[in-house]
Amino acid sequence: MKIILLGPPGAGKGTQAQFIKEQLNIPQISTGDMLRAAVSSGSELGNQVKVVMDSGGLVSDEIIIALVKERILESDCADGFLFDGFPRTIPQAAAMEAADVPIDAVVEIQVDDGELIKRITGRRVHPGSGRVYHVIYNPPKVVDLDDESGDPLVQREDDTEETVRDRLAVYYEQTQPLAVHYKSQPLIAYIEVNGQGDVSEIQSAISEGLASIK
Ligand code: ADP
Ligand code: ADP
Repeated sequence: MKIILLGPPGAGKGTQAQFIKEQLNIPQISTGDMLRAAVSSGSELGNQVKVVMDSGGLVSDEIIIALVKERILESDCADGFLFDGFPRTIPQAAAMEAADVPIDAVVEIQVDDGELIKRITGRRVHPGSGRVYHVIYNPPKVVDLDDESGDPLVQREDDTEETVRDRLAVYYEQTQPLAVHYKSQPLIAYIEVNGQGDVSEIQSAISEGLASIK
């Protein structure tokens, strides 16, 4: 299956992606994780995108589309994949259609702005694996350390309250139009999930939604 996880920053896409990818045995393709890996490697691409990411803006469609097109050619994507944080603009969605990459389902996770801000400012991540924690809602077993590897957790530079507000504005302007775009396509299942509540409840709602279209 080829699935898109749609939702504002902090909605829980990365958290839920961990479950979906295991359940369906498909890779998670997080453009945010790919870009952060490029930044930490100090590559030319990383240097190019760092300022935009830190400011909460979107990296250019051209860069993102090239990155994703290359990634989905890899062998682990043969049976499908889970896009997390992509597409984020209408041109990015259109690029997949032009490349004949048919999407089976869009899962939209809906969360209020006030809750998103609390989630993002308390988020801590394990850069090596993409595992996500929250200082209050989902704390690691040992403060500031990843449960599995014991590595230190970090706070992303763009996870400040000020940048979150800019990122939310960008989401409503550039990404939310994708909901209408995908809802109007009869061959794509559109699953809306209330993203407020226990992680496990949301996980069940997503599983049920996806099971109903298989
Ligand atoms: P996204 O990938 O959509 O930006 P994340 O999965 O990184 O979102 O989640 C944002 C933050 O909210 C993380 O700190 C995560 O632990 C926390 N979180 C995720 N789901 C929930 C939930 N259902 N309730 C409370 N906190 C959550
Ligand atoms: P979140 O889920 O918290 O919004 P991501 O990890 O998905 O964060 O993205 C972090 C940043 O990476 C974005 O604010 C943006 O600068 C850049 N980015 C990630 N994915 C895309 C994309 N599909 N198009 C443009 N920019 C992107």
